[in-house]
Order: sequence, then C-alpha cells, then structure tokens
Amino acid sequence: MSVSAPTTNLLGLSRPELERFVATLGSKPFRARQLMHWVYKRAEPSFERMTDLAKSFRAQLCAQATVQVPEIISEHRSADGTRKWLLRADGSQAFEMVYIPEPDRATLCISSQVGCALDCAFCATARQGFNRNLTTAEIVGQVWLANRLLAGTVADLARERAVTNVVLMGMGEPLANLRNVAPALDIFLDDYAFDLSRRRVTLSTSGLVPQIYRLAERSNVALAVSLHAPDDALRNELVPINRIHPIAELLQACWHYIDERNGRSVTFEYVMLEGVNDAPAQARALARLLANRPAKVNLIPFNPFPGTHLRRSPPPVIHRFRDELLRAGVLATVRRTRGDDIDAACGQLAGRVIDRVTARLGSRTSGIGALA
Ligand code: SAH
Repeated sequence: MSVSAPTTNLLGLSRPELERFVATLGSKPFRARQLMHWVYKRAEPSFERMTDLAKSFRAQLCAQATVQVPEIISEHRSADGTRKWLLRADGSQAFEMVYIPEPDRATLCISSQVGCALDCAFCATARQGFNRNLTTAEIVGQVWLANRLLAGTVADLARERAVTNVVLMGMGEPLANLRNVAPALDIFLDDYAFDLSRRRVTLSTSGLVPQIYRLAERSNVALAVSLHAPDDALRNELVPINRIHPIAELLQACWHYIDERNGRSVTFEYVMLEGVNDAPAQARALARLLANRPAKVNLIPFNPFPGTHLRRSPPPVIHRFRDELLRAGVLATVRRTRGDDIDAACGQLAGRVIDRVTARLGSRTSGIGALA
C-alpha cells in the first residue's frame, strides 16, 4: 500500500507561506514567485504545463500540491450582464459569488462564510443560518475562478484582467473569519498574485468592532460598514450586533482604521427600507453622526426576498434622503441595483446552508452573543 503525502492547495498560501513551502521541496524562494506567475497571472492550474520550471520541481509539485478551486454547481446570467455562480463548499453546503461588469471596471462580489450568524433583519443570507468559515483557498479561489472563466483564452491576465475590483460583500461576515480572510487580502494585493490596488479591494462589515482594530494592524484595504440606522434603538433591531457594539463604539473604530491605515474615507452602507429608516429626520441624524468626518454614505435600495415583510423605499424618498445628506455636507450616492432578476443583488444571496447555529443554540440571536 502506498501512502501519499497530503497535498497543499497553493491558492491558500500567501507569498511567505509559498516560499516556505517551496523551501520544504528544496527550492529557492524565487521559485515561489515563478510559480505565482503561472498560477495567478496566467491562471494555469496544471504544473505540467509550467514549462520554465525544472522537470523535477514540477514532478514534486504534481505529487504534493494542487491549485484547487470551488466546484461550480450552477450559473445564472442577468439581463444587465451580472453573473452569479453557486459554488460547492462540501456535501450539501453551497455559497455564491457575483460578477458585476461596468464600463470602467468589473467587480467580483465574493463570500467569506457559508451562511452568516449575524441575523440582520433585512438580509436573505441571515435566514439561512451559519454553517462554516470559508478557507483562505476558497476565498482566493473565487477570484481565481472568475478570472479563469471570464478571461477565456486571454494568455496574459496581467494585461487583460477579468476582475478589476473585489468586494467582500457576498455571503457571510468577513471579520468573523478574519483568520482566513486576512491572508486572502494579502494575496489580492500581492504584485506577484492578483496585484489589485488596496482601493480596489473592499471589505464590508456589519460592525465587529474588535476585529476592525485587528484589521487595522493587518491590512489596508478599503473599509465599508453596514450602518443602516442613525440611532442605537433602530440599529439594535436591524443589525443585532449593535447590541454588543453600539454606534459610538463602531464609529470610533472606523476613524481609528482610516487614521492608521489609509487616511482616506470609510463608506457607510445604508439600506433604504420604506417607513423604517428613510425619513428626512433620520437623514439629518445620520449627517450629524458623520459631519466633518472622512465618510461617505452609499444608499442601497432594499432588495426583497421571499418571506420578508420589508419594502424598498420609493425612488423619490431615496433621492430626498440623499439630498438631505448632501445638504448637510455628507457625501452620498445611491447604489444601482444589479442582478436582481437572478437574485444576485445585495442581500439576496442564499446558497444551500445547513444551519449549525440554530441547531446548536436554539435561536440565531443567541448566535450573536456567541460570536462576540
Ligand atoms: N456581512 C457583511 C457583508 C455582506 S452584505 C456586512 O454586513 O457588511 C453586503 C451589504 O449588503 C451590506 O451592507 C448589507 O447590509 C447589505 N444588504 C444585506 N441585505 C440586503 C438587502 N436585502 N437589500 C439591500 N442590501 C442588503
């Protein structure tokens, strides 16, 4: 009986880790960079085809390494060009990624967890519960896969990259999985890997305050924060993590992040819910929170999903809300809804999740306590 060594998925390794891995095979660090060129710039998954690597090194890689991406279960295309893929995690677990082409960029919205434990009132993913964190390789694998699928026969992805921007706004709370997300961010920014500018990688969080401080020590990607309410009473209902980390604490962490890491601005996401958070007085209260701060607000028209009683604010209400913010000196934009005909819009992502939080704790609200 032959015992084969376990294989290492190279997509889960940051550059220093890959250098250590090739060192264990007896190779010099520059071999890691050569390997990254093939894997990331050329989207080449087969070691045999990496023709400028020594044959013996290729044979070692074939035996001990893989470039393995999540398997595609299905694909949907929207009339507006948005594409959504359902990907397999394992067994009956699935998660989604969404590709959003625009004239000047192409954004990939990726997932960080299978399901989510945070139970935000307006989000379809919350209804599914939480199953597990995605691995670094599964997070990186989404971008790799999209580039490969979309670039088709493009030989040099460095020149004609399919994905120009990555947003961690798919399923899951990225900061609840910072251990696996942080190395993925390194790989997105690494010149030898995806080589994306830090302005083109955005992490969106519901507001896990301690992890925002940890992120500030670790990365300098753009930060988006799901605020959704101008006061604690309402935010406690919409984004229950607020009961643990209220607005004042959250904003403090945001200002710390930009002071430490990029000196630019934080984007606050604000989902527009009819009759709930869309009154002009609420816009003025929001403006008071953000006045004279490096902040901008992105208003997201609510995307409905089966079983919700919430409704999207009508366009004139959204525009009035935006104008109140602008009048008070707060930069505000309205996010264009994309891919809603295939349930690919914000908050509509719902893979197939076997909820382990509800099973374990009896209610998802207690799941939030368990996370904090
Ligand atoms: N957990 C992270 C990232 C995932 S959600 C976070 O909370 O930020 C990405 C954005 O979509 C968040 O701002 C989220 O609040 C918003 N969103 C969730 N459900 C939505 C819905 N049904 N309609 C519009 N936006 C929604």
